[in-house]
Amino acid sequence: MPQIFIALGSNLGSSADILRSALLALNALPGCQVVNCSHFYRSKPMGPQDQPDYLNAVAELNTCISPMNLLNKLQAIELVHERVRNELRWGPRTLDLDILLYADLQIKNEGLTIPHIGMSKRNFVLLPLQELVGPEFVIPGVGVLADCLAHCEGQPSLGMKIE
Ligand code: ATP
Ligand code: MG
Ligand code: MG
Repeated sequence: MPQIFIALGSNLGSSADILRSALLALNALPGCQVVNCSHFYRSKPMGPQDQPDYLNAVAELNTCISPMNLLNKLQAIELVHERVRNELRWGPRTLDLDILLYADLQIKNEGLTIPHIGMSKRNFVLLPLQELVGPEFVIPGVGVLADCLAHCEGQPSLGMKIE
């Protein structure tokens, strides 16, 4: 099975409950298991600052769902959790699910870029990912995770670990 990593984020509603519920929903997808998840990290918002702090995590999946189908399933899970899409880029949301990595695939489609385009500059993604893969992990087409992390500003605080 290829190694697949998903970023989870929430800053509206009961974010910890929403992330837990999203993990259950991912695990309930046919042909998909959540095999690992990082701690939940509390981090400052990216983009507009007049919004609540985020809870972020990274989960590892085992799945045979193709990348594009997986994106569709993630967006369906976002909608079930009352994600509202509006004009405001990086505005507040109940749930964001992004595909970070899909094995060593590099994809650049109109609607899907893998590795996720912003991941190498986002400590709230790299820190939880590092928990799962270690600092020497090489992000395909990007470089060593620890090197990316060293160039990020700020520091999310380590939150809870769910079982
Ligand atoms: P960002 O992608 O910078 O984290 P965001 O998560 O807030 O921003 P969304 O509104 O959730 O952005 O998604 C916008 C679009 O990004 C989606 O409609 C989707 O087609 C596209 N997209 C491209 N690559 C990915 C990816 N790897 N994972 C999730 N969405 C992606
Ligand atoms: Mg996102
Ligand atoms: Mg998204």
